[in-house]
Amino acid sequence: MVRRLLPWFGANARDLPWRRTRDPYAIWISEIMLQQTQVKTVVAYWERWMRALPDVAALARAKPARVHKLWEGLGYYARARNAQAAAKIIVDKHGGEFPKAFEEVLALPGVGRYTAGAICSIAYGQAKAILDGNVIRVLSRLFGVAGDPRGKEANARLWGLAQELVSTAAETEECGRLNEGLMELGALVCTPGEPRCPECPVRTLCFARKTKRVGELPMARVAGQVIQRRCAAFVVKKEGRFLVRQRPAGAVNAHLWEFPNVEIAAKEKNPAAGAGEFVLTEKESFCRVRHSITRYRILLEAYHAKLSTEAPRGNVPGVWRTAGQLDRLAFAGAHRKIVAALKAEKSPEKRSNAA
Ligand code: SF4
Repeated sequence: MVRRLLPWFGANARDLPWRRTRDPYAIWISEIMLQQTQVKTVVAYWERWMRALPDVAALARAKPARVHKLWEGLGYYARARNAQAAAKIIVDKHGGEFPKAFEEVLALPGVGRYTAGAICSIAYGQAKAILDGNVIRVLSRLFGVAGDPRGKEANARLWGLAQELVSTAAETEECGRLNEGLMELGALVCTPGEPRCPECPVRTLCFARKTKRVGELPMARVAGQVIQRRCAAFVVKKEGRFLVRQRPAGAVNAHLWEFPNVEIAAKEKNPAAGAGEFVLTEKESFCRVRHSITRYRILLEAYHAKLSTEAPRGNVPGVWRTAGQLDRLAFAGAHRKIVAALKAEKSPEKRSNAA
């Protein structure tokens, strides 16, 4: 299988910017960005990040607000905060040199077995396995691994197979390429819906193809219960400035910016009823954003509003920022869409439509 996969990868690998380097820092950043995010989205983020923070030292000394801004829109912001914490450890403990030992890489904040394996195999050529969604799919089909691939037994078998393959590739010093080849096969050919088996370089070895079980493998996970939620955001503008606040440490999307908001009941007719500080100035929302956080499907409705008590004497629930300053802050994704909607409201096209 290794003999067939490596030439296929050589001929079919996508030309991605992080594949042109063996710099462990650059590979690490690409790997954490790629968790939960598609390749085509990551390319621009990765290039921008590498221009702004080209090495571990730059990331370690960057202001957290800058790190958040560079990550804005990628979601799962703990990844960015962990990356900076890891960079500081590398500077303090490893003299600024990215560690080479697998255990030391694995000990960094936010680095799990998969990421440590990817860095050590791709940057250093070590025989360390990786197992992500793509590799799980390829190996489950190829070797006929039944059972929940995230369950203890099947997962251990898959890690074992991945390790055997990368150890075989070590004989020709191709560990990184083998791991990348497995992921690429899963991304381009052995896809979830309709795999392109006739084009697959390992089709004659494939258990699922031989036994006509491609559609059954890997076994689907039992979906968790989805919960619907509804939130109202209040956009208050005073003397050219908007009221915004930063999410607290420890919360989802910690340290990112947002408009004040509250959760409301699905059928609530007056969204400001539960938020004492705000009074709606328009009955209808001017922007509705649907987004998901883990199992929650959230509808966020933004309303123009004013403060019900005089600011700033009392407890103004946030700080005042101009439209230009909003652009420079890192917003949670759904709230960035509200900022965009505010801009669209002011655009010449919108004004002429209104006229
Ligand atoms: Fe996947 Fe089909 Fe290749 Fe088997 S033959 S590994 S199912 S693409």
